[in-house]
Amino acid sequence: MPELPEVETIRRALAPHVEGRALGRLEVRDARWCAPLAPAEVAAACEQRTVGRLGRRGKYLVFALSGDVFLTLHLRMTGTLLLDAASDTPHTRVVFDLGAHRLSFVDPRRFGTGELQLGPDAHEAFLARRLGLEPFDPGFTGAHLRDLARGRRAPVKAFLLDQKRIAGVGNIYADEALFRARIHPLRAVGTLKRAQLEDLREAVIASLQAGIDAKGASIDDFRDPYGVQGSFQDQFLVHLREGRPCPRCETTIVKLRAAGRGTYVCPRCQRPPRRATTQA
Ligand SMILES: [Zn+2]
Repeated sequence: MPELPEVETIRRALAPHVEGRALGRLEVRDARWCAPLAPAEVAAACEQRTVGRLGRRGKYLVFALSGDVFLTLHLRMTGTLLLDAASDTPHTRVVFDLGAHRLSFVDPRRFGTGELQLGPDAHEAFLARRLGLEPFDPGFTGAHLRDLARGRRAPVKAFLLDQKRIAGVGNIYADEALFRARIHPLRAVGTLKRAQLEDLREAVIASLQAGIDAKGASIDDFRDPYGVQGSFQDQFLVHLREGRPCPRCETTIVKLRAAGRGTYVCPRCQRPPRRATTQA
């Protein structure tokens, strides 16, 4: 699933081509995309409006349209946004007609969503119910992380994946950040020391930034709006590197399960906790 760096890569590639353009027609071919609203309802609310800013919050991509209408997309498992695709596929779910450009949302598994909010308050409330702070927000400090972690027995990996606490981190970047911070994913987050949480904060930011710099990771379906893969998968430190040497100490990287997800660790750099935590 695209995580913060992948969605940010899409946003950066698309913004110059969509910002300031009129959305003439929004053709929703798959009603599931915008359910429970009907495609005609969403189209009527969005058509003939100008795209102001193309924004991102967590893993959401936000079309801020004139008149304070917000169309908030989540790509989920297999969603891709293609700019000026040569042809449609059976998986083309939505087409944005922007005059000079045509933007297609292609989604074989059909988990991607488009949600509508009318007015900035409704939009902010929508995001606030679902997302914690952005890791690049100045408020994402060691103290903030300590407040979130205090007294919590959840494994730190599950904590990182919880979008309501920290927005945008998924399985790839959680593994990479925990390795950088030398923290085992099954450590109870509330038992981490102040310095460890500070290391974790820096590691989350560094991992996400490395992902953005490499234009995302393409281990599954991720493509940018031109159909081009990212390259962060070539720079993974531990993720998907089971059986290969740790880049720091050359101990063999192992795969385990944490937060219900395949998780990769260096058993030497990331010392396992003495007591297992409650699995989340
Ligand atoms: Zn190591």
